[in-house]
Amino acid sequence: ILVLAVESSCDETSVAVIKNGTEILSNVVASQIESHKRFGGVVPEVASRHHVESVTLVFEEALKVANVTWDDIDAITVTEGPGLIGSLLIGINAAKALAFAHDIPLVGVHHIAGHIYANQLVEPLEFPLLALVVSGGHTELVYMKDHYQFEVIGETLDDAVGEAYDKVARTLSLPYPGGPHIDRLAAVGEDTYKLPRVWLDKESYDFSFSGLKSAVINTVHNAKQRGEEIVPENLAASFQASVVEVLVEKTMRAAREYNVKQIIVAGGVSANKGLRKGLEEAVAKDGHIKLTVPPLSLCTDNAAMIGAAGTMAYLKGHRSGMDMNGLSGMELTSL
Ligand code: ATP
Ligand code: FE
Ligand code: MG
Repeated sequence: ILVLAVESSCDETSVAVIKNGTEILSNVVASQIESHKRFGGVVPEVASRHHVESVTLVFEEALKVANVTWDDIDAITVTEGPGLIGSLLIGINAAKALAFAHDIPLVGVHHIAGHIYANQLVEPLEFPLLALVVSGGHTELVYMKDHYQFEVIGETLDDAVGEAYDKVARTLSLPYPGGPHIDRLAAVGEDTYKLPRVWLDKESYDFSFSGLKSAVINTVHNAKQRGEEIVPENLAASFQASVVEVLVEKTMRAAREYNVKQIIVAGGVSANKGLRKGLEEAVAKDGHIKLTVPPLSLCTDNAAMIGAAGTMAYLKGHRSGMDMNGLSGMELTSL
């Protein structure tokens, strides 16, 4: 089955054509990062305007690259939420108009279900599995006993990991989005700064990153006041070491308790080299669990992942009506 997928929840306008939920025929991504850089973050109004400008071209390009016509498409899947409402609505309205015009079923998809299903474009999912979701807006451990069954067993109580990365990067005067820059610095630095590990309750699978973020900001400010130089590489390495240690430890503990066959990583921060390495080592040491991480191109926002998730939703019988609305605060379980 062929699915056309649309993603416009934040600052990427993307359309993809996906075969059988596993094979990418096209995945066109128009990024707005350059436009938002000078503001140091995504400006919602600017984002909406860019989506309007690029959406038609991105659709045409995706069909052309996949070498398919509307007659070949079995379903149109689109990110219904969560995200910036103005951005979501551009993709949703385009998807609705085309579904109506060509009489094709429409399926709304949760953005995080998309990030999770990016892994299905790498290899088949084996259940039960545990998804570590680490993105710009989410940090969650999601248990899945079967396709499209999401149980959030832990989540961040404050900042998302990606958000913490971006704020730490800003403190070090690095460009937006800061995650990749911190990752690059961390690779050549050493863990010399004593930063906290926030475990919360011993049994808990929840996370908290605002204290760590504040510790980094305080370190920079205190050094400035004393007229001391900080070593950005080492501070980045120390920050990343704390993040990775907590993420890996909680993920492995949950994976064992829930007896999963596979751990998958989802969201923009899954591109992080330190996190990938930490998980690879932990899984190798355990010896019983398979680890899957998407390629870099499928870690950050793209429509291919929405097509992979959307195909499974479509096969489960999910359908959306012409009254579909963007849900900026959509729950992963409310599908
Ligand atoms: P959400 O998916 O929660 O709605 P989002 O779509 O804005 O949020 P993504 O696009 O999935 O988030 O991920 C973007 C985030 O990933 C940014 O915070 C960015 O800094 C971070 N990121 C990207 N690459 C890396 C990396 N190599 N190391 C750490 N963080 C990274
Ligand atoms: Fe995302
Ligand atoms: Mg993004």
